[in-house]
Amino acid sequence: MGRVRQKECDRCHILSKVLYRVQLDSSQQWWFICLQCWQQVSDNNPYYVYGGTWKARKRR
Ligand SMILES: [Zn+2]
Repeated sequence: MGRVRQKECDRCHILSKVLYRVQLDSSQQWWFICLQCWQQVSDNNPYYVYGGTWKARKRR
């Protein structure tokens, strides 16, 4: 108990408690990226698709 689950950003490989599930390019591959990367890739990106948010906390 008390251990925080974290996931690694697929783009910059920083551990984060919240990641955004997005498509970044024409490959239609899903990425899990951190807030910083999300701001970068969502800006002026015609391939950007938002697919939800991953959070470390479990659903109840
Ligand atoms: Zn990142």
